[in-house]
Amino acid sequence: MSKPIIKTIVKTELPSQETLVYTIKNKLYINLTDRCTLACEFCPKIQGSMDVHEYNLLLPHRHSADEYIAQIHNPSQYEEIVFCGFGEPTLRLKELLTIAQYCKPSGVPVRVNTDGLGNLVNKRNILPELSLCVDALSVSMNAQNETIYNRHCVPALKGSYQSMLEFLRLAPDYISNTTATAIDGLEGVDIASCEQQAIKMNAKFRRRVLDIVG
Ligand code: SF4
Repeated sequence: MSKPIIKTIVKTELPSQETLVYTIKNKLYINLTDRCTLACEFCPKIQGSMDVHEYNLLLPHRHSADEYIAQIHNPSQYEEIVFCGFGEPTLRLKELLTIAQYCKPSGVPVRVNTDGLGNLVNKRNILPELSLCVDALSVSMNAQNETIYNRHCVPALKGSYQSMLEFLRLAPDYISNTTATAIDGLEGVDIASCEQQAIKMNAKFRRRVLDIVG
């Protein structure tokens, strides 16, 4: 008599309940990475907190695009899909594009909040690829000149400020809904000057308030 076949079901779970996606109001936020090449003094991560609202955004593991897509499930239930966490989403460009392409047919706007260093890090102009599946960009300009930028953002990569400005200059030609942001209240940051530069580059401008995600 042959032995009965016993099927073993292996349950796959996310390690330690990492937050891949999170919702604030009716927007879905995608937490693609917690790494970036800046060390902004105003960033909660740099100040020792990985929390946004009730979510912990620490990501010790890298997750596949499919894992994110499984959690997004039906994008059309949201008002907007936003790539935003305590890291730079363009550091995981392949996954970003795959997830955004999955969301695109739903018609729900997809926004990427970025430090604007995606071209520098990826060593090419990534805007043509982003324009196929991303509806809006929010670019952290953060300062009206390199000295103030370096003081507040502490870039690891040489030429970061100039590269961010060049990204911002190119971006509206690919994604018309491009907005530069800067945080009001940081020492030496001239919000009016940041806004003037953004408008000259055909971008919109948004004054941000510290510690508000969105
Ligand atoms: S780029 Fe964003 S995530 Fe990185 S340190 Fe600055 S504020 Fe924090």
